[in-house]
Amino acid sequence: METLRTLPGDDVRQIMWRYADRFDLQMAVQSARSVARGVVARMVADGVRHSHEWTEQKDSLLKTFDEAGITAVFLDPHQGGFIEGPKNMALSLVAFELSWVDAGAATCSLANNLALSPIHERGTTEQRDHYMTLCAPAPDRAPWRGAFALTEPIPYVGVDTGVLTGKVRVDSWEEGQEPILHVEKRGRFITGMDFANYATAAVDTADPRIKSSCIIILEETDPGLFDRGAPTLKMVHQLSSTRDPVFNLKVPASRIVGGYTVKDGCIVPNYSHSEVIAAVFHRTRVPVALMTTAKLLSAVEPVIRYQRGRFRGGDACEAGSAKFELGLQQKQDAVIRLAEVWAAGEAGASLGFATARLFDQLDPTEKAKDAALAAKGVSGARGQMTALKKVQPEAIEYVNLLFVPEQERDAARFAALDADPVVKYQALEAEAGVLCPACKLWNTGHGATVMREAVAMMGGYGITEDCPGFLFHKWNDSQLEATYEGPECVQRRQMSITMASDIFLAYVDNYIAEMERVAASNPETGAASVAAGLTLWKHTFDFLSANKDADGKKLYHSNRQAVTFPLADALCPLIATRLQILDVLELAAKGPENPVVAEGLEGYVAFFSDLARVQAAKAAGEAAKACASLVYGYAPAGADLTAFAGLRAAVDASLAGCGAARERAGQALTQVMIPEALDYPM
Ligand SMILES: Cc1cc2nc3c(=O)[nH]c(=O)nc-3n(C[C@H](O)[C@H](O)[C@H](O)COP(=O)(O)OP(=O)(O)OC[C@H]3O[C@@H](n4cnc5c(N)ncnc54)[C@H](O)[C@@H]3O)c2cc1C
Repeated sequence: METLRTLPGDDVRQIMWRYADRFDLQMAVQSARSVARGVVARMVADGVRHSHEWTEQKDSLLKTFDEAGITAVFLDPHQGGFIEGPKNMALSLVAFELSWVDAGAATCSLANNLALSPIHERGTTEQRDHYMTLCAPAPDRAPWRGAFALTEPIPYVGVDTGVLTGKVRVDSWEEGQEPILHVEKRGRFITGMDFANYATAAVDTADPRIKSSCIIILEETDPGLFDRGAPTLKMVHQLSSTRDPVFNLKVPASRIVGGYTVKDGCIVPNYSHSEVIAAVFHRTRVPVALMTTAKLLSAVEPVIRYQRGRFRGGDACEAGSAKFELGLQQKQDAVIRLAEVWAAGEAGASLGFATARLFDQLDPTEKAKDAALAAKGVSGARGQMTALKKVQPEAIEYVNLLFVPEQERDAARFAALDADPVVKYQALEAEAGVLCPACKLWNTGHGATVMREAVAMMGGYGITEDCPGFLFHKWNDSQLEATYEGPECVQRRQMSITMASDIFLAYVDNYIAEMERVAASNPETGAASVAAGLTLWKHTFDFLSANKDADGKKLYHSNRQAVTFPLADALCPLIATRLQILDVLELAAKGPENPVVAEGLEGYVAFFSDLARVQAAKAAGEAAKACASLVYGYAPAGADLTAFAGLRAAVDASLAGCGAARERAGQALTQVMIPEALDYPM
């Protein structure tokens, strides 16, 4: 049987992650890679991570990003950028490339976009063009850089963003003039503060003449105090800047993100801070998820090299002997564990990039939805919610049609629903609302655990500063990725609401049917385990939603985190593995069209199928364990659990053949060719 010949290159990834036809994205990847494996890798190797201060050397990174075009990736061409249309996939690919070497560097580049995001998502057209153009590198001036200030000193906003101590009041308001506002805000752990020219800060109203909270833009030259604060003594991501700033400034009301209206002598912000934050984090969490994934995949090559070379150069073995050639790879456990790290990385990448692509589809649909609703006179968050609820049956119909093969579905009906932006938005949003927290939660949290395995494979070398691939740093860094932009509990909380929507549950039914079809045509992918795992998950969800505990309290309830959180955890790897399998099928289908990929295609597809099967078995097994402890753990006395037991047994039975797949994947790693040396320094 053909097996993996070389590590997958860009041609393979472009097909799997669906950007083979996007030259602009390929260019962005190349630029980010040259920065990562050049300047960034050199800095890490030179120990630049050892200081908390923002040094001149670290600061030079910003210029490097500007010169490589990384700073401009977020901007539209008329603002100084070079990518037309939505940029979620572009930003994800850049974050992935930079994090392959160092995630602090990735954060440093992304933080400026995070600062711009409130303006991009909810700002007025003038605010958007003004600030985004200022942030574009230009030959005659330094670009502006920003910081996003939500988090405040203990005990306030961190996880519970509803409570803010940052306050905004009216300072002066002359008849017929723009009101001047007084903003007081203290930030904690704010990225980019060393060099920020402006900050987008969340503040609550402390004045009856201001209706609600808002996000407001603060500039370093505004009258008052723009104090960057003390540096955070971080043990991770030291190539990005983090400080605890203090702001006490006077700014015009036109800086309220999204603008405001004046009603009955009161300033009414068009968006509250939480509406803006929801829109921002909805997108920006995806590149963060991929930052941890990049670490897992980047570990494969250095570990193989270490394992193979372990016994070379001593008396223990002679050149040409199996021990010399294979080293630790003679031992089955060493390679199987590495294959499992790789499998988790594949699943994370498939989930993260699929989510980024989904947001690229969602962004224009959201704009079209807003325009369509505005044309009907619908405005405000509540009005929109009612309008969206009305089209829920059509949205479910649209979801069901999405999964019918093109040649079989009712083309006219599909076209009609697809052309209705309100319906389409509602359908896409239901999936995005789950995939975004799912990848932030699973890729980073589970990824951090798996990264420990990669470090362990390097033995003692893994916990030295000489560990190739900077694996120990990467393991530490992954904990920050699991923490910021909302730690795991925030993602679980969000999922416990979004995964319970009727539209998303329609997706789950379709995922199951789809995976059953794939299991029939491509059993080698492990699709049967994903189908069985999802079926059990759905049954458990239905059971928990329909039943109460012995005290008569609802089992599935947003405050009952003991029930909802494990169910969210169980879902993530199942949906990640589904997407991993779809990426393998895409490679098998499109690979023959590309002469470079066609060369070793059979081996790639066989190997990636084995990895998917390994991951599917893990995902289904974990889901079965979690679901069993919920159903048996909470079932009312005397409940008939036969159906659950049958579905759980079906998960076990679906694992048939995954043992051999696991061994084959490990064996493949003993044969794959790797380059002579890592392409960045130790
Ligand atoms: C290096 C770094 C850079 C950062 N950059 C920025 C930035 O640029 N801008 C910004 O605004 N913020 C930034 N942050 C802040 C970051 O977003 C917060 O640290 C993060 O959201 C967690 O909040 P917290 O630290 O206050 O944790 P806490 O709120 O203290 O939560 C700690 C833990 O308690 C548990 N918990 C808390 N509340 C709940 C709940 N309701 N339900 C269940 N469990 C709960 C969870 O396990 C949680 O993980 C940064 C942080 C760091 C470390």
